[in-house]
Amino acid sequence: MLITDLDNTLWDWFEAWYQSFSALLDGLVSITGLDRQVLEEQIKAVHQRRGTTEYSNLVREVPALVEFAGPDDPFDVFDEALHAQNSARKRTTRLYPGVGETFEVLKRQGVRVVAYTESGAYWTEWRLRNTGLDGVIDVLYSSPDHDVAAGVTPEDLRTGRFTGTYGLQATQHNQLPLGVLKPNKQVLLEILTEQQCAPDEVAYLGDSLMKDIAMAQGAGVLDVHAAYGQAQKRPEYDLLRRVTHWTDADVAREAALSQGGGEIVPGLICHHEINEILPVFGASLVGAP
Ligand SMILES: [Mg+2]
Repeated sequence: MLITDLDNTLWDWFEAWYQSFSALLDGLVSITGLDRQVLEEQIKAVHQRRGTTEYSNLVREVPALVEFAGPDDPFDVFDEALHAQNSARKRTTRLYPGVGETFEVLKRQGVRVVAYTESGAYWTEWRLRNTGLDGVIDVLYSSPDHDVAAGVTPEDLRTGRFTGTYGLQATQHNQLPLGVLKPNKQVLLEILTEQQCAPDEVAYLGDSLMKDIAMAQGAGVLDVHAAYGQAQKRPEYDLLRRVTHWTDADVAREAALSQGGGEIVPGLICHHEINEILPVFGASLVGAP
């Protein structure tokens, strides 16, 4: 069995987040004329309160935006910026090269594919549908959403403001208790029990040394580092650090690790592409160049 992380392991979550959030922020600044730094600070406060950096109801809770909108619904006032965010998200949420073929080979080989992400249910399902992985992943474990669809109300869905529907067609989706976070190995061990797999029958793939690799090693599962997915060294990553819902301690620890703090040494590494994991399962890309 392969247990895989999703964000920055199967797709470039950071790039999609950066492009879509920047489009939103640019739009908000241009509509309101508000100071960008003030907006970033108020947005961070909402993200921290809601425990996510993908909060769909954001513009209704940022004080400066609510004030600017006055008696009107911020969703209407900032419609153009929200639209730019949505189209950027759609455009930039794409699988890394080789993900589709690698899963095809693994499935032919009889390997079960389970995904475990800390991201919330709504946007994770959206990404699975949008990348064609509904059904390719056998079972998905995700965090639940903090409230209805990370701030998307049933009314918003009815009015078509968010095009996504709930649910997946073929992938079984199990939601984890709120606040259980990697590198806590408990969830991984429970996944093994539920999937009736022993630790030595499993490889775990993920991009974060601090979260994924530390967790897999703690659980006694073969850890494979998706080094191609690391985004922390990109200069654009600073925007995420400025508005993130993570605690200051998380941010500091993560920054130290990405500077080569290096106390976590992965067992195996996929340097350039996910297909480098195939030999672990005795497989290879037949006829690949
Ligand atoms: Mg990740």
